[in-house]
Amino acid sequence: MLESAHAWMIRQLTLGEFSSRRAVVRKAVLMALKIAVFAYALNILSHLALVACDLLPYDLLPALVIATVLTPPVSFVVALTAYSVVGLAIYDLGLSRQRFEMLSRTDMLSGLMNRRAFLEEFERVRGATSLVLFDIDRFKTINDGLGHKAGDDVIAQVAQVLTGIAPPDAKVSRIGGEEFAVLLPGFSGEDAVLTADRMRQAVGSAEFCGPAGAFVVTVSAGVAEGVAELGFSEIFSHADRALYLAKAAGRNRIVYANALPDGLVGEGAAKAQALATFDTRRSA
Ligand code: GH3
Ligand code: MG
Ligand code: MG
Repeated sequence: MLESAHAWMIRQLTLGEFSSRRAVVRKAVLMALKIAVFAYALNILSHLALVACDLLPYDLLPALVIATVLTPPVSFVVALTAYSVVGLAIYDLGLSRQRFEMLSRTDMLSGLMNRRAFLEEFERVRGATSLVLFDIDRFKTINDGLGHKAGDDVIAQVAQVLTGIAPPDAKVSRIGGEEFAVLLPGFSGEDAVLTADRMRQAVGSAEFCGPAGAFVVTVSAGVAEGVAELGFSEIFSHADRALYLAKAAGRNRIVYANALPDGLVGEGAAKAQALATFDTRRSA
């Protein structure tokens, strides 16, 4: 009984979380009203107890009038002030926490979700899914020729192009220096290859401007289809192997991992044949 009364009291007085400043004020008013009623009842009961013990040093009636006039408004104002101050502090802390969480999940240069956020998104996916790994071609020469700042701008612009053309369900992230991962939940590998190729072409035909004028940027990609429950590293390693082969075959192309013969990682005729077969590039 005492325990449930205690739990009830805690429930009544706990502030919890707030969605807006207005919600803080609403809750503070409600709390202050409850406290005003509680304080008033306590005051009246105390007077009655003093009367019962014959300890009240003044008349009951004027005392009750004073208690009625003063206790509810004073306790209301004090409680409202206290709850508003604490509630607004809780609300501000909540906002900072949300902002911090958002920053910890966002890549500052591109505005895309970062690797950590991408892995969390992957954890939520169930069933068949496809993963595309994009890597900007010969990015080092952009850095070396135009400067690191121009390189940063290229990363940001490629991110924009990729997100602009990605399907609505796609999760686009920057997972490393000039590497982007695109999760396509529910996409078959073949559809993912077509999507990735559209994205590759969009980057290739976008206009990039440097100090010495416009220049072309291309990307290569590896695509893999897998079952999300098998884990990120499983599907990632296949897409990464395909990306490696796309680079080795000359860049600016897509390679589909699931269509490659098993163990295709080294040099040789099998690799050359696979690259010729699975290169989806429409124009060299
Ligand atoms: P490949 O076609 O084989 O991918 O060649 P690449 O030059 O693109 O690849 P490489 O791995 O040799 O070079 C990538 C470079 O990207 C090296 C690194 O200094 C640079 N880089 C990594 N992160 C950033 C970044 O945030 N900003 C800039 N400007 N450069 C970066
Ligand atoms: Mg790279
Ligand atoms: Mg690169």
